[in-house]
Amino acid sequence: MRNCPSCQAPAVELLRDFGPHPICNRYLTAADAPEFTHPMVIGQCGACGLVQTLDPVPAAELVPAVDWIAYNEPEGHLDAVAETLASLPGLKPGAVCVGVSFKDDTLVARMQQRGFSTWRLEMERDLGITRKGCGVESIQARLDGARAAAITAQRGHADLVIARHILEHAHDLRGFIAAVRALAKPGGYVVFEVPDCTLAFDLKDITTLWEEHTVYFTPATFQGTVATGGAALVNFVIHPYPFENCLVGVTRTDANAMPTTMTRETLASEQSRARAFAASLSVRRDELRGYLADFRARHGKVAVLGAGHLACTWIHLVGLAEFIEFLADDNPHKQNHFLPGARLPIRGSASLLTENIKLCLLAVSPEAEPKVIARNCEFVERGGRIASIFPASRNALVIEKPA
Ligand SMILES: [Zn+2]
Repeated sequence: MRNCPSCQAPAVELLRDFGPHPICNRYLTAADAPEFTHPMVIGQCGACGLVQTLDPVPAAELVPAVDWIAYNEPEGHLDAVAETLASLPGLKPGAVCVGVSFKDDTLVARMQQRGFSTWRLEMERDLGITRKGCGVESIQARLDGARAAAITAQRGHADLVIARHILEHAHDLRGFIAAVRALAKPGGYVVFEVPDCTLAFDLKDITTLWEEHTVYFTPATFQGTVATGGAALVNFVIHPYPFENCLVGVTRTDANAMPTTMTRETLASEQSRARAFAASLSVRRDELRGYLADFRARHGKVAVLGAGHLACTWIHLVGLAEFIEFLADDNPHKQNHFLPGARLPIRGSASLLTENIKLCLLAVSPEAEPKVIARNCEFVERGGRIASIFPASRNALVIEKPA
């Protein structure tokens, strides 16, 4: 049995083996182009409840080969986070705030506005990363204790370190938490922010799985991980979003965390949630395949709008490629490419009309759905149907079960 990267217990149990999975950022230039795949195997620690990838994709394989891949993290809660951080005891004007990755720039800027002296780790100077296109997958691999010591020897220690949306990419969770903590001085603070997978697990939303994530946090397993990493949590807030909450934990470096006290009840509830999620996927697959086959036979063609990692994961893991004509996406970089895994063509959204599509399934960021629906009103006026692939959406595709 694998040792848990969080609590280190040799207690990780298999939840589900999805077999070979593509890298979602490797758009294919031809439908029959060769493709790198890596096993997607999900498990859960029987000691701390953390859901995790049993065999993470090596960081070097995740670096995009092109420079136009962009990911957006939610930002609506950042003013509130900045206010909390600015009022932490002991942080005075001029205190040094350091961001770990480009994902931290917007919060670091807010701290600068509040009188902090700020900087951010530089890929080449601080991390020795020269390859183009590298992101958090490479930073987590490069930032270890020795690297953190070299950085602080040169630049000094921070009063406040910010690490948003990188912990869930870390292969060596404990080592990475320790390295980030080492950037702060004794008595300094470290902020970790991660996505909350609770709702996705509860709603059996398979798009929450992503080959770039090594772990899938809930509030309980996030707090447990931070504590087993030796960081004492002084502030923890769940910032609610309709699809995926943000979990923000502030830790203080001079306080040693108590060993985690995952109660039997909490662990049982984490286990039943993750097991129900893993077990539901076969049923969901049969439902979706049956629905799409029937829709095509009765009404006509189906396309998916939004050719990003959510569509890639959904179509590949559920096994839906044979029912879908193409992916619609108005990003010109993606057009004339093929979706990894499914090998379906990517076209402009005008093709929804010209190709006589009858059902358009939305795989765009859920917050963007209303705008995308408004933009495609002609498609709807001509009798086309639009539904979201996300169970939490108000536009979610509803499959009625036979009475
Ligand atoms: Zn564990």
